[in-house]
Amino acid sequence: MRCSVRYAGRLAVVLLCGLAWAATAVGQETASADEPLNGREGRQLLLDQFRPRSMLRVEQHLLKRAAFPVVDAHTHFRYRLHHSPEQLDEFVRLMDRNNIAVCVSLDGRLGDELVEHRDYLWSRYKDRFVFYANIDWRGDGQEDDPATWDAHRPDFGRRMAKRLAEAKQAGASGLKVFKQFGLGYRNPDGSLIKIDDPRWDPIWAACGELGLPVIIHTADPAAFFLPIDETNERWEELHRHPDWSFPPDKFPSRDALLAARNRVIARHPRTTFIGAHMANNSEDLAEVAEWLEKYPNLVVEPASRIGELGRQPYTARKFFLKYADRILFGTDGPWPEQRIHLYWRFFETFDENFPYSEKEFPPQGFWNIYGIGLPEDVLRKVYHENAARIIPGVKER
Ligand SMILES: [Zn+2]
Repeated sequence: MRCSVRYAGRLAVVLLCGLAWAATAVGQETASADEPLNGREGRQLLLDQFRPRSMLRVEQHLLKRAAFPVVDAHTHFRYRLHHSPEQLDEFVRLMDRNNIAVCVSLDGRLGDELVEHRDYLWSRYKDRFVFYANIDWRGDGQEDDPATWDAHRPDFGRRMAKRLAEAKQAGASGLKVFKQFGLGYRNPDGSLIKIDDPRWDPIWAACGELGLPVIIHTADPAAFFLPIDETNERWEELHRHPDWSFPPDKFPSRDALLAARNRVIARHPRTTFIGAHMANNSEDLAEVAEWLEKYPNLVVEPASRIGELGRQPYTARKFFLKYADRILFGTDGPWPEQRIHLYWRFFETFDENFPYSEKEFPPQGFWNIYGIGLPEDVLRKVYHENAARIIPGVKER
């Protein structure tokens, strides 16, 4: 197979090569720039034009509803629905169809904004939603001037602890920490703030005292920390979103970020931490298992990671059976209904080689997935029993 990188007009084009099922395209080097590189009539094929249709004929179970009531512990009703009442009505109907009993919205923020988010969810659907607060690192500071941020003023941790107590009073069920914590927020000298900086300890301690679990997003997929080149398994996605890349000359390593998060979890054994996106290490479930063994106050959830879990179905299934008490269900939605159906198919069936997304081109890695057919007792735990135990307000709903 000949692999080449060529330029057609101003468009950088890349031909997928080296993967077993890649198109064997031997290019016509003389093809003119305005002919589409769609692999036809001897032309090269652009990676983003590749639309292989599987000829595999195997059993399919296109589930449209979860087998048991579900608590979705990772959703974004502020960021994805922008407080639209119509979209909320529509999504609640989707929840009904899919057997989703409760969604946990992670976008509450604090103070008046938190109350506004609560009222958006609760005015009509109090029995279907709980919500988390977020830390206000910036306060009245300027976005582009970290020296003015509230986080760098004295006593920030203790003041935030107080605001979290107020958030709990207002109905919040937990705290969500976004990935900018470690990869975005900065110190006055321009360095990134440290996840395990002792200044934030009062926040984690307060969550333990208040009984608020902390769902924390730290780092990102392993491939996002590698160069965007032909060896990167998420090349297509990073090519579309170069800002999702965290090159080593500008960012701490992924291992360093995850280790700092783990030191926080170890320092606060009375606080429950929910490692978002399989503790952001779904590429290495053996290591996630080590963390679960080491930190009894850690649980994980699979939002936006069925693409990872489903390409290692034997390993993932063993992991889910062994740690059935330590895994919540999550999607990162609200998503289109077809994507939510794929979660049921992944968790409940042994279907083979199916997409993990409704998008025509796989958005998180160029592969398909395999179901892990979890037994009923494990499904019940992951779908709702663990959430009812861990997230305040869920079992009352
Ligand atoms: Zn999320």
